[in-house]
Amino acid sequence: MLQSKLFTRTERFAPKDEETVNAQLLTRAGFVEKLMAGAYNYLPLGLKVLRKIEQVVREEMNKIGGQEVLMAMMHPKENWEKTGGWQKIDVLFKVQSRTEKEYALGQSEEEIVTPLTMRRVQTYKDLPLAIYQIHWKFRDELRAKSGLLRGREFFMKDMYSFHKDQEDFNRFYEIAKQAYLRIYERLGLTAKVTEASGGSFSEKISYEFMVLTDAGEDKIYYCDACEFCVNQEIAKQKEGETCPKCGKGKLFAAMASEVGNVFDLGQKYGKDFDLGFVAEDGTKKYPVMGCYGIGISRLMGVIVEKNHDEKGMIWPEIASPMKVHLLGINGVSGAEIYQKLQTAGVEVLFDDRDANAGEKFADADLFGITWRAVVSPKTGDKIELKKRSESEAKLVSIEELIAAVK
Ligand code: ATP
Ligand code: MG
Repeated sequence: MLQSKLFTRTERFAPKDEETVNAQLLTRAGFVEKLMAGAYNYLPLGLKVLRKIEQVVREEMNKIGGQEVLMAMMHPKENWEKTGGWQKIDVLFKVQSRTEKEYALGQSEEEIVTPLTMRRVQTYKDLPLAIYQIHWKFRDELRAKSGLLRGREFFMKDMYSFHKDQEDFNRFYEIAKQAYLRIYERLGLTAKVTEASGGSFSEKISYEFMVLTDAGEDKIYYCDACEFCVNQEIAKQKEGETCPKCGKGKLFAAMASEVGNVFDLGQKYGKDFDLGFVAEDGTKKYPVMGCYGIGISRLMGVIVEKNHDEKGMIWPEIASPMKVHLLGINGVSGAEIYQKLQTAGVEVLFDDRDANAGEKFADADLFGITWRAVVSPKTGDKIELKKRSESEAKLVSIEELIAAVK
């Protein structure tokens, strides 16, 4: 990709109305552009990051047997009335047609996935099933001031599992929890797991996956010695107390962002739609369901909050919009290296602009692409290679460069 042709422009200053680092840096770098509070346009480099995060999530969902679908974003009112959501869910966006018919915009999809799945399930032998999608969600959030961390329109992975009984659900719940932890680890994030009582419809246990960051909107207590972690909203504990789990560590208070959660939905949705299956004993039963959400666009924002310096973003390799940012400076074009990297199948953004070295370096630091490769009169037939996260550069050959980034 040629930077001279790239559909974006970097800005020296962040928009005044952006309060969080993620929104400031992503906007300055031209990765996203705010359309209005809570809604962003994704430009080429921003979209690449979103797609990379999405792919990690997809791989881990597929590994545990998830099957990907794409459900409609616009829903009939009847489905939401059946579950009570039309009345009870305050963030639900409602749309009216010119024919006065009403619709809901998807904010979570139990109302759609339950009939979709259960119409295809006859007996217990058809279960378990885990169905997921990666799609936009709409929520009428009151405050949307945290950049990508809280959108009114945002990108989510939502999976729903269907089981013949509680025991089978419990088995899968644990598998899904582990898959979530793998996702965060692959993205270079440390997620703490809080245990919480369920959402509006269930008193069951749910788990929230929290990444510590001051940009987050959740207050948590965590133990400095073991994995104990609770959301302050529901906590019986106080800051400074001895950990109730290990009895050794102390509880610290921190701000965190919820990057995912998993819920035990029980039998509510099967019952609401009266869609059951024939159990082993021949009777009609309702499925025990789980739902598993991950905020993909929020994750993009959280990664920026956790990985930046005063010059810009610092992408972990797995989420970096490109593998290599190639700069030709002080009269050296770099076009030949660009060709070779492309032939070798390396994703590369080539700064071929007629700009001075200072400008090129500043953009490279702002974009935060994992590897920066510079060719200049000083580097001769070698290339100066540096990781955005490190300060030391080294001189390498084109072969060494390809080997290092592949
Ligand atoms: P929050 O407490 O932050 O509002 P939630 O409990 O409403 O989150 P869920 O309904 O379980 O969240 O949605 C699943 C995931 O989607 C969340 O864990 C989070 O990562 C993400 N998410 C939820 N709301 C938003 C939003 N408004 N903008 C971006 N991501 C969101
Ligand atoms: Mg919410």
